[in-house]
This record gives sequence, structure tokens and C-alpha cells, in this order.
Amino acid sequence: MERLTDSYGRNLNYVRISVTDRCNYRCKYCMPLEGVEYLEHSEILRYEEIIFLCRALWELGVRKVRFTGGEPLVRKGLVGFLKDLNKEFPDMKTALTTNGSLLQQYAEQLAGVNLHSLNISLDTLDPVKFADVTRLGDLDDVIAGIRAAVKAKIRNIKLNTVIIRGFNDGEIGDLMAFSKEMGVLLRLIEFMPLEDDVWDEKAFISGEEILKMLPEGDSWKAEKPDSLEAGPAKYYRNEKTGDSIGIITAVSNHFCKYCNRLRISATGKLRTCLFSPDEVSMRQLILNSDSDGLKELILQSIKDKPRCWSDVRTGHQNMSGIGG
Ligand code: SAM
Ligand code: SF4
Repeated sequence: MERLTDSYGRNLNYVRISVTDRCNYRCKYCMPLEGVEYLEHSEILRYEEIIFLCRALWELGVRKVRFTGGEPLVRKGLVGFLKDLNKEFPDMKTALTTNGSLLQQYAEQLAGVNLHSLNISLDTLDPVKFADVTRLGDLDDVIAGIRAAVKAKIRNIKLNTVIIRGFNDGEIGDLMAFSKEMGVLLRLIEFMPLEDDVWDEKAFISGEEILKMLPEGDSWKAEKPDSLEAGPAKYYRNEKTGDSIGIITAVSNHFCKYCNRLRISATGKLRTCLFSPDEVSMRQLILNSDSDGLKELILQSIKDKPRCWSDVRTGHQNMSGIGG
């Protein structure tokens, strides 16, 4: 088995695959309300093509795949696909990132596909603010979805909150209490400078500042990272209360040195860095079922993985196309 090791010695064993660019929400920091041009269905990789791609990734040493979007659960047949994938690769850690809106419907079925982890995005517990930031969302759906996922006993559920100054920075205590009640881990995420239109520097709060904003300020101690989870998330444990929390510092922390990720778009484009616009299309090789050619292309492409996002950021990007 060949390992995906890039020019800086980083072992790339974690891949995030977007299964759709479509979404039932229009979060202000992610997508414009109108004028979103969706891909044609024929442009999006079919599930059997994603399984073919995962086979190549597995042979190259990838051991964790996270499915994202757009909103992955709006794509029909996702649960059946995850089941098929797990049947072929029972040892591949598969994970899902969702806005939670459709979890009431899918949680029980998802509990049967051996998910390794489920990330649910939740920026606020205030229904009015939730409707405002997601533009099309209803907080009740997401809360019911979280409860359904917990009830179905899906493993490693995490709530992901993008912290935006003046919007939800006053809610950290409430979000912590809610996560505790649900028995799930809360992770607070730095707002990322992707779309220049919505990137307001004043709204950014660094992980360091977020840490200081936590209740019981001095009692949070950093935990040792788990190697496969190594990434921009740092975990802290409160010595007094025993609570845990994650802070994701993709912007302020120089995590690039330890980056183990690749990203693949719904059309089969490989991106070696979230912040770089450079992409390589693997589509034709996948359609031709050319496994050797595909692995060779991936091995070549990773040589160009940037050293650090600050070397490549352009500003004209949004998350919905690349899956966060
Ligand atoms: N629709 C799913 C969801 O919302 O969880 C999956 C895709 S979404 C692009 C993945 C993650 O990216 C979400 O947690 C979202 O909050 C985050 N995200 C989107 N734009 C962001 C930004 N500018 N800064 C930080 N996180 C962002
Ligand atoms: Fe959709 Fe997720 Fe982007 Fe919100 S963050 S618009 S839910 S893809």
C-alpha cells in the first residue's frame, strides 16, 4: 500500500468528500440567498463512482472519509450509499457533517451504517437568530434532529458552532449547557475568511479569545490530540466541572504543519487545501474506471499541496462548493 505523503512529509489519510453542492439552507456566511447556480445531476459523481474513488483512496492509505456538502442529507439515497460503503470498507472511519435539518427523518437509518462520527452545525439556540443566519432554517427541526441522533445512539456526535462577534459570542454558556444536556461534544469554530462579501474582520474571534470567553475561565486544560483527529481542533477539559470542549482554529493556528486532509468536490475535483483555488479533476479517470491512473493522479497532485493556507488564500470562495 502506498502512503499519501506530500512534499512536506505530511501523511494525508483523511479525505472530505462533498456529495452535493445543493442545500436547503442559505447560511449568510456560506451561500448567497439567490442566484446560486447548482450543478446538473449529470455532473455530480454517482454513488458507485464515489465508492470506486474510495477504493483508490483506501489503497493509498486513507482511513477516514467525511461526507459533506452542501447539505449531504438532501441528496437522495445517501444512507443506502453509506451502508454499501461500510459493507465494502468496514474499517474505514466514515463520518458525516450535516446542518441537522433532516436528521429527524434519517437518524435511525444512519444509526445502522456504522458511522464513526456525526457533526451537526448549530450556530445559535435563538429561533429568530437561527432563521436569520440560515435564512431558510427552522431551529425546531435541528433541535429535534439532534435529539433523534442522540436517541438513535449514533456515535461521536459533535455540535459545531461558528463563533461570530456580535451574533452568538454571548451564547457560549447556553450552547455548552445544551450540549451537556444532550451528552454531545461542543466545538467552537473560528469564522473563516472565505467569501470576501461576508467576511467582516470585526466579526472574527480568534480561538485564543474564544478560550478566554469560556465560563470557568482558568480551569480549562488542553488535552492531548488523537493522531487521526489531528487537525485544527484543540480539545480542552475543565478540571473543575469535567466538561470538554473543542475549539477549531483553522485561521489563527498554524495547524497547516500537521494537516492530514484532502478535499474532493461533488464533481470529482481534488483540492489539496481548503483555501487554495487549485483543483485537479479526477472525473474522467473515475468514469473510465481507471484505478491505476486515478491513484497516480492523486499521488502527483499531493506534491502541490501548499505548505500553508496563508501562501494561497484568494478570498473568492465559499464553503458550500467545497464542503467546509
Ligand atoms: N451543510 C452542512 C453543514 O452546514 O453542516 C455541511 C456543509 S457546511 C459547508 C460545513 C461546515 O462549514 C458547517 O459547520 C458550516 O458552519 C461551516 N462553514 C461554512 N462557512 C464557514 C465560514 N465562513 N467560516 C467557518 N465555518 C464555515
Ligand atoms: Fe448549507 Fe451548510 Fe452552507 Fe449552511 S453552512 S448554507 S447548511 S452548506
